[in-house]
Amino acid sequence: MGQSFREQADALLNWVEDYFARIGDYPVRAQVKPGEVLAKLPEKAPETAEDFAHILAGLKDTLPGVTHWQHPRFFAYFPGNVRPESLLAEIALAAQGANAMLWETSPAATEMEMRTTDWLRDAMGLPNNWSGVVQETASAATFAAVLTARERATGGIANREGLTGCPPLSLYVSAEAHSSIEKAARMAGLGSASVRVVDTDDRLAMDPTRLRSMIEGDIAAGRKPAALMITAGGTGTGAFDRAADLMPIAREHGLYVHVDAAWAGAVMICDEFRPLFCGVEDADSFVFNPHKWLGVGFECSVQFLKNPQEQVDAMTVKPVYLESIDGVCNYCDWSPVLGRRNRGLKLWMVLSLVGLDAIRSMIRDHIRWTADCAAALKRCDGFEVVTEPRLALFTFRYKGDAETEALLHAINADGYAYFTKTNVAGRPVIRWSIGSWRTTEEDVGATLERLQTLAFTV
Ligand SMILES: *Cc1c(COP(=O)(O)O)cnc(C)c1O
Repeated sequence: MGQSFREQADALLNWVEDYFARIGDYPVRAQVKPGEVLAKLPEKAPETAEDFAHILAGLKDTLPGVTHWQHPRFFAYFPGNVRPESLLAEIALAAQGANAMLWETSPAATEMEMRTTDWLRDAMGLPNNWSGVVQETASAATFAAVLTARERATGGIANREGLTGCPPLSLYVSAEAHSSIEKAARMAGLGSASVRVVDTDDRLAMDPTRLRSMIEGDIAAGRKPAALMITAGGTGTGAFDRAADLMPIAREHGLYVHVDAAWAGAVMICDEFRPLFCGVEDADSFVFNPHKWLGVGFECSVQFLKNPQEQVDAMTVKPVYLESIDGVCNYCDWSPVLGRRNRGLKLWMVLSLVGLDAIRSMIRDHIRWTADCAAALKRCDGFEVVTEPRLALFTFRYKGDAETEALLHAINADGYAYFTKTNVAGRPVIRWSIGSWRTTEEDVGATLERLQTLAFTV
C-alpha cells in the first residue's frame, strides 16, 4: 500500500522485461476455455484501493488467457508488432493524454503526425503531393474512403439529405478484398448489395475486362458506379490487383479509388517490391498499417490522400465548440471519429530509434525465409504448397481437407506456433505468415519440424 508512481512503474517495467524474456516459452494461442478468465475476476469493482503487488499478481494470473501476439512463432493472421520503442512512445503519449482532434488541442501531435506521415510517404516512393493521416485501423480508413466515394457519387446529397432518391451505388472489389469494405458499405447506408464482386484471374487479381463489363451492366441497370477498391496484398493469400490495368477504367467512369494495402504496403520502403504496386500513384486514397510489419504498436494505420479536402468535406461537421483558427490542419475532420490519440509520436519514436534500414532488412529476411520455408515444405511427405509465396505469406495443406484441419488444430493446441486458415478454391488451407520482428530463421525451421512431427498424429 502507498507505493509511489515510480515504485509501481519500476515493478511493472520489471514485469514487462521478464515477459519479453520468456515470451517464446508461452503457448502462442491462449489455452483457456470461454469464461475461465472471467471467473477469476471479482464480480464487483473494489470500493477501496488495492495493493499494487496484488494487481501485478492478478496480471500474471491472466497470462494463460493471453494470446501472445509478440511471440516469435506467431504466424497467424498478420503479426501485429510492438517494438519496445513503440512501447516507450506509448508511455510518453499516454502521459500527455492529449486528444489530438484539433490543431490547437495539441499542435505538437498534429504536426508530428504531418511530418511522420510525410516521412513514410517519401520512404515508400508515393507521390510527394499526397498527405497522410493516422487512422486507428485500416477498417476506419476504408470507412472514410467509402463515405468520401459516396459523397462524390451523389454530389454531396447523401450527407445533406440522406440516400432516399439517390440511385443505388456500386463499389467494385475482388473476392480477395477484406471484409472491412462490406462493413463500411453497410455503415455508409449503401448495403451489402452495393459491394460488387468482380471475377479474378488465375492469380486472384481482379480481371479488368470483367470490371469494365460489370460497370457497364450496372449503369444500364440504373446503378451508379461509385468506387473501385483495389486489394494490394489480400488477407487470404496475399493477392494483388494490378492497379495499372484497372486505373484507366476507374478514371473513365469517375470512380473514387481506394487501395487497401493494410498488410503489404510496408514493403514499399524497399525499392525492389514497388513494382507490385504499379499504378497506385493514380489512386485517391491508400491505406497501410504500420501496426503490422513496421512494429509501431496497435493501433496505427496510415491513410494517404491525393486530395484530402474531398475527404474533409465529406467528414466535417462544425459545432461552435469545435471552432478553431483558420489555416491549420484539424485531423478530426479527416476521420469518421472525433477524438484521437497522438499516434504520430509512435511513428516518430519507432522510425527514429529503429531506422528505416533495420526495418528494410527485417522485411527482406522475412520474405526470403518465406520462400525458403515454402520450398522446404514442398519436400515434406504429404505436404503441398497451395499458393506460392506472395511476399511473406503462402498457404499449404497436408493431405486432404480433414487432415489439414486436424493439423491446424494440433499445432495451435500444441502452442508451439500459431496459424490460421483460409479457403482456396473452396478448400481449407493453412496460412503461413511471417512478419514478427522477433522471429528468427531458427523459429521458422523448428516450426517446420514440429509440423512434420504433428502430421504423424493426425
Ligand atoms: C489487416 C487487414 C485489414 C484490417 O486491418 P485493421 O487495421 O484491423 O482494420 C484490412 N485489409 C487488409 C488487406 C489487411 O491485411
